[in-house]
Amino acid sequence: MTKRLFDEDAFIREFQAQVLSSERAGKHYATVLDQTAFFPAGGGQEADRGTLGGQPVLDVKEENGIIYHYTAQALSGTVQGVLNWETRFERMQNHSGEHVVSGIIHRCTGADNISFSLTDTATTLAFNVPLEDDFLKTVEQQANAAVFADKKITAYYPESEALSGYDYRAKLDLKEHVRLVEIEGVDLCACCAPHCARTGQIGLIKIIDSERYKGGTKLWIVCGKRALAHYAMLLGQNKEISHLLCAAPEQTAAAVEKLKQAKEAAEYENVGMRRAAIAAAVAAVEPTAGNYLAHCAFKGDDLRLFAEGLKEKVGGIIVVLEGDDESAYRYVLTAENADITPILKAANAALNGRGGGRDNMARGSYGASLEQIKAFFAQ
Ligand SMILES: [Zn+2]
Repeated sequence: MTKRLFDEDAFIREFQAQVLSSERAGKHYATVLDQTAFFPAGGGQEADRGTLGGQPVLDVKEENGIIYHYTAQALSGTVQGVLNWETRFERMQNHSGEHVVSGIIHRCTGADNISFSLTDTATTLAFNVPLEDDFLKTVEQQANAAVFADKKITAYYPESEALSGYDYRAKLDLKEHVRLVEIEGVDLCACCAPHCARTGQIGLIKIIDSERYKGGTKLWIVCGKRALAHYAMLLGQNKEISHLLCAAPEQTAAAVEKLKQAKEAAEYENVGMRRAAIAAAVAAVEPTAGNYLAHCAFKGDDLRLFAEGLKEKVGGIIVVLEGDDESAYRYVLTAENADITPILKAANAALNGRGGGRDNMARGSYGASLEQIKAFFAQ
């Protein structure tokens, strides 16, 4: 078994070890040491990175108590191990923060943490009961109170016989060699990963989102350095909005609301003007018992409304077109008193058209020139 230095002291960043074996494993070499500070992934936390004998550690895995370090080349003799400490410490901050939050929620509601994932971009944890936003606010306050109180975090392996005497949280039903991580007065949980030594090192715990998940609740949290980066990101966003809207930073939501209302009012006014333009265009058309074709500036639904309006003036087929692309003039085809089906089909066939509709109104496009379209409907 490899001596697990991270179990005894999670703050060992550099260490020396004897290479016991270094054998080819696929494209890389798997090296076994007498002792290591490289954590091999577990308890929701990813494997450490860093260098071993000057070579980048590509992965770390554990099998039956033996820890394998994967490098590009074989190693031998005494090697120096150096952890990527920035990443490891950030993970310890977030992992320890997760224990604090899960411990508080468990103590308050009896809810169990049913999943935990800690990647380099997100920390998520899920509970088997629904948790309301107001409750989560008090959880966050209590979690940060525990941080400010700088509680001691310890890890130990109780004797198997004594284990039943401990009231601890656990996802797996292990009976022996259980490692308990205790946060003084806050949480006791079975976990194999390295954590901070005191809650003060977590820095800050912020619940940034929650959603319903399998009948319970899933939370997104950021702790420590990540919480600072998250705050800086949000502050930057708000500053930008504040500049764009000439609003004080604490008034940006109100300024956006005002802008939204102004936009809605302008849209409403715009719709009114468009309706008036359609009515004026309809009024300018001379009544006819025959067909009517026009290429106009109305687009989208306005084109349909124009065609609709023409029904009181036109006895035959109404065809209104928009666009300036010879390969795709968009059309609306309708009639008040005639069935458009035969001419719709014939026009689509003759003018490389597509489209259709219902209630005697069709929409689509013709892949032909304006002259070709006019000539077809003049027949
Ligand atoms: Zn843990």
